[in-house]
Amino acid sequence: MAGNRTFTMIKPDAVKAGHIGNILQKINEGGFRIVAMKYTRLTPEAAGQFYAVHKERPFYQELVDFMSSGPIVAAILEKDNAVEDFRKLIGATNPAEAEPGTIRALYATSIGENAVHGADSDENAAIEGDFHFAKTERF
Ligand code: UDP
Ligand code: MG
Repeated sequence: MAGNRTFTMIKPDAVKAGHIGNILQKINEGGFRIVAMKYTRLTPEAAGQFYAVHKERPFYQELVDFMSSGPIVAAILEKDNAVEDFRKLIGATNPAEAEPGTIRALYATSIGENAVHGADSDENAAIEGDFHFAKTERF
């Protein structure tokens, strides 16, 4: 049976710092299969839509500016228990609180510029994957 799926982005800070390869290696070593992947850049409008759930939070504008500041890598990943296991692999939102060895502990620089996104539920993983990928872009 196919495993279930999560959605991730390598954020502009990690792309700029040259960490795409290292982060993809962690994803591979974590046992995730890449279903879809693209190198792209969010417009401010698209970043605003993607993070609309955070509209009322004080960091929303900063988040939208940051996420549209440069290219990202977006991907759908497959593994049993994908959402929960990927959140474990990336670590806490604030890198200062992230477990040693997690992607955020290794590559994030602050609570805002924290290297990677990981969906927080199966439902949001599906919504976020649909936001970035057509059915024909999934393998
Ligand atoms: N964020 C921020 N300041 C905060 C909390 C979050 O800039 O105090 C940013 C950060 O980039 C984070 C994103 O907003 O990854 C979404 O926040 P969420 O609470 O959903 O964290 P995540 O699910 O990414 O761990
Ligand atoms: Mg979140």
